[in-house]
Amino acid sequence: MSAKVVYMDNNATTRVAPEVQKAMVPYFSELYGNPSSMHTFGGQVGGALAEAREQIANLIGASDDEIIFTSCGTESDSTAIFSALQTFPDKRHIVTTRVEHPAVKNLCENIDNLTGHKHKVTQLPVDREGMLDLQRYEESLTDDTAIVSVMWANNETGVIFPVAAMAEIAKSRGILFHTDAVQAVGKIPIDLSRNSSIDFLSISGHKLHASKGIGVLYVRRGTPFAPFLIGGHQEKGRRGGTENVAAIIGLGKACALAGARLEDENTRVRALRDRLEKGLLETIPHSMLNGHRTERLPNTTSVSFEFVEGEAILLHLDRFGICASSGSACTSGSLEPSHVLRAMGVPFTAAHGSIRFSLSVYNTEDEVDFILEKLPPVIANLRDLSPFWKGNHPGAVGSSQCKCSC
Ligand SMILES: *Cc1c(COP(=O)(O)O)cnc(C)c1O
Repeated sequence: MSAKVVYMDNNATTRVAPEVQKAMVPYFSELYGNPSSMHTFGGQVGGALAEAREQIANLIGASDDEIIFTSCGTESDSTAIFSALQTFPDKRHIVTTRVEHPAVKNLCENIDNLTGHKHKVTQLPVDREGMLDLQRYEESLTDDTAIVSVMWANNETGVIFPVAAMAEIAKSRGILFHTDAVQAVGKIPIDLSRNSSIDFLSISGHKLHASKGIGVLYVRRGTPFAPFLIGGHQEKGRRGGTENVAAIIGLGKACALAGARLEDENTRVRALRDRLEKGLLETIPHSMLNGHRTERLPNTTSVSFEFVEGEAILLHLDRFGICASSGSACTSGSLEPSHVLRAMGVPFTAAHGSIRFSLSVYNTEDEVDFILEKLPPVIANLRDLSPFWKGNHPGAVGSSQCKCSC
């Protein structure tokens, strides 16, 4: 690694916390036993696993026996949905949203190929702020609905859905409720011990400063469950496969840290995010926020800069060592805006120029100021080169001489 990196792409993945790394190391060297072994050597690993399980359960107000280790958030999502379909083999309806992560969205859209049965999948729409209509949700539920899968917080916009209330409604209809909480856990308080009706909840280690390749599926006590990976008796027969011990120990530590840092995340990180967002929206004309202003994670901001390409912005930011994401993906040569921004009805000219900054407890005020210094001229320069911008702003040069009612 050479130049300094300003990392604001934490919704894509996070740095492994130094404390987490330190906790993991012995499990690659001296403590390499199999936790299922009868001997004391393996047994001590089993003890450490139990401790990690407790740390994870504590962060979300769950019991130890409600925590199942998986390989990633994607596996947790698949496990929950396939489990529900096996629990209710005669029910063929799934309710989800148009803005889910591909781990849920692509699974639901391909469920017929995977199960060999015909399913009806309702993908609930969102409004311009990325919010759901609860009445519409309620009306979508039928006697044929096996499971509802709705994310707790959106990875692109940070918008938070009222999953606790939605789970209540599902429960009253005898429908299982899953939430992909990969972006929510560790960023906002979650307490499943308080009369929660949530049956399944997905966590991914690498989104909260643990390592990649470790996930958790919370399964509420009493919720019927069918395993996804069938093999050994690990996880009480609920998920076969020898445990990824070091990663689990790391995730336990990461959850303990996240609990202790929730306050910092919701005050200092939120203030940094707000400072960045306000600075960008105020200094760059034709910029707008994507997503609800308050019902949102403290670390995420998605901002659109009209008449520029997000990917071009990212390339310029990259030259300064600034890491962020764009709301468009380069597929087959055409820049298609993300399904999330399209579902929100973000205008074409804005969706293409959207950038997501996702912060973490490791970001500083200096880093925010660095972006506020570097990004406005990048946008102005790109607009000078943009035929869209010139077509809409004849005679304008960059953002400084914009003649419209900015
Ligand atoms: C990253 C992410 C996932 C996938 O998690 P992996 O561990 O990478 O499989 C699922 N859902 C959301 C909302 C995510 O942000």
